Amino acid sequence: MNERDSEQVARMFVEGGYTVTADERDADAILVNTCSVRDQAEQKALGKMGIMGKYRDKKPHIVYGYMGCMAQSRGKELFKNVPHLDVVVGTQKYHRAFQYVDDILTKRLEKRMDEPAFSLAGQSVCDIAEEKDSQNTIRDHIAKDNQVSAFVSIMQGCNMRCSFCIVPDTRGAERGRPIDDIIAECKELVAKGVKEVNLLGQIVNLYGRTEFPKVDGKSPFVQLLEAVHEIEGLERIRFVSPHPIGFRSDLVNTFSYLPKLCSHIHFPMQSGSDAILKKMRRPYKNAKFIEICENMKAARPDLAITTDIIVGFPGETEEDFQDTVRTVRRLDFDNAFIFRYSKRKNTPAAEMEDQLPESVKEERNQILLKIIDELAVAKNAKLVGTRQQVLCTGLSKTNSEKLMGRTSQNKIVIFDGDAERMTGQVFDVDIEDATGFSLYGTAAIK
Ligand code: SF4
Repeated sequence: MNERDSEQVARMFVEGGYTVTADERDADAILVNTCSVRDQAEQKALGKMGIMGKYRDKKPHIVYGYMGCMAQSRGKELFKNVPHLDVVVGTQKYHRAFQYVDDILTKRLEKRMDEPAFSLAGQSVCDIAEEKDSQNTIRDHIAKDNQVSAFVSIMQGCNMRCSFCIVPDTRGAERGRPIDDIIAECKELVAKGVKEVNLLGQIVNLYGRTEFPKVDGKSPFVQLLEAVHEIEGLERIRFVSPHPIGFRSDLVNTFSYLPKLCSHIHFPMQSGSDAILKKMRRPYKNAKFIEICENMKAARPDLAITTDIIVGFPGETEEDFQDTVRTVRRLDFDNAFIFRYSKRKNTPAAEMEDQLPESVKEERNQILLKIIDELAVAKNAKLVGTRQQVLCTGLSKTNSEKLMGRTSQNKIVIFDGDAERMTGQVFDVDIEDATGFSLYGTAAIK
């Protein structure tokens, strides 16, 4: 989501006559889009901005800014942490970033020409206010060569209050974009060659529930999926991240009648223990999570499911952890992100008394990583000898002599071929080898 927001801001700068530099040392303005999900991410953003402050020695006019979740939650306090900072832009103000930076930069450059005694005093902006309809401003893309796949932000915010998460404070309440706007954006992307869209939202399946009515028993999100599916030339649809809440049969059924919907879902489970789910304020039981997964697999038998799991949440007993292990094995996930619980300031979980020692968190983390790794290796090994349909995304990121693509199950496939001719094409690849991360094969077209 941050990547998508950054792209929108970059696009506004490009439209305003700026160029996105490959090297930060060449920039006249540096904006850092921040994440608050983990404390480590905030520390990194602070450290990075601190180091970059030295560029002002050679370029006194340079403008520094923070955007995103940390900007939203810390606001003006950031000017104390980072004395050279000029701009703080909250999560509902991305569309204002360009104007704030451009104004300051223009004034500085003009002033430098006029006045030898150049001063930066009094030139800073902090805008973290709420803004109605700000969700509708994340809609433009930067033109990229051979772009095959694109993220489309369909909503902002979250009305849940998971006890470990700071997002509701930093991103505000759920706000969905109109279906027509989203469809127009997808069509524009397809006209430029995009074959796959990935619909983005904090709880993507709750899209539009407060703004738009159900039609024929179908939620606004299902209506959106059906409308996106109609777009000619679009080959694949993905969405991220769904929540078990509001994941009803109308959405489960889409896997049986929307063939462009990919056979992969990233479905955060967080814990397999009902007691821990309750402490996390995740309003579902483990049995419900399992039931939704099994129903989706009934609707789409080759569905790959990946998940997020937090280990070492306050009060997690060995039995709670074993509940998670049992569920992981039962659902036979294709892969998972495992997070050791870490305190987030201003969240209820950070104040819970029964925090676990790091050694316990680390031990559980290692156990689960090992299990997930075994499952991933076994799943991918089963695909050796099969023919998989792949959307070629271009050169491999780790070996520029090879091409890469993704299957509908979102598995990375590496193969030989001509990048110019094959990028953006969907074709079959015969799978000959596999690791837990990737499949290797031979394209069935020449
Ligand atoms: S659902 Fe929970 S974890 Fe996800 S963004 Fe909302 S509060 Fe955070």
